[in-house]
Amino acid sequence: IERTLSIIKPDATKRNLTGKINAKFEDAGLRIVAQKRIHLTPAQAGVFYEVHKERPFYGELCEFMASEPVVVQVLEGEGAIAKNREVMGATNPADAAPGTIRAEFAESVGENSVHGSDAPETAAVEIAYFFSGLELV
Ligand code: ATP
Ligand code: MG
Repeated sequence: IERTLSIIKPDATKRNLTGKINAKFEDAGLRIVAQKRIHLTPAQAGVFYEVHKERPFYGELCEFMASEPVVVQVLEGEGAIAKNREVMGATNPADAAPGTIRAEFAESVGENSVHGSDAPETAAVEIAYFFSGLELV
């Protein structure tokens, strides 16, 4: 059974959308097996998004992720990585399929409400960045 890292981003926590977003994950058969609310520093966000450090939006992305608390969580299920990304919808809400989280809630391509790991290797690294072994049962 697969696990993936999910982040409910500042634009969504600020608008009290955590419950509505998590209802979509649970309705899709994903189980929330770990969860916490944290406030990242820009430097911590920068490490998390290191793969994007050459992209023009990197600085803006790190500031945004540190602007308000986020909810970091681990979702578990059959094919959880792909299923999470399906429920999230396309990065740009203008391209996101109807009914997806980003279609319903995202404000822009940057402030797009959720993050989801994109492969098994990144899921393992991202989960370990936020959760210790003792927090994962
Ligand atoms: P995530 O990695 O957050 O799950 P993703 O895989 O759909 O999203 P990426 O291409 O990995 O998208 O980009 C990472 C994040 O960077 C996006 O979710 C978004 O918040 C931000 N981002 C991506 N493209 C842009 C852009 N053109 N302008 C501003 N921010 C952007
Ligand atoms: Mg990504």
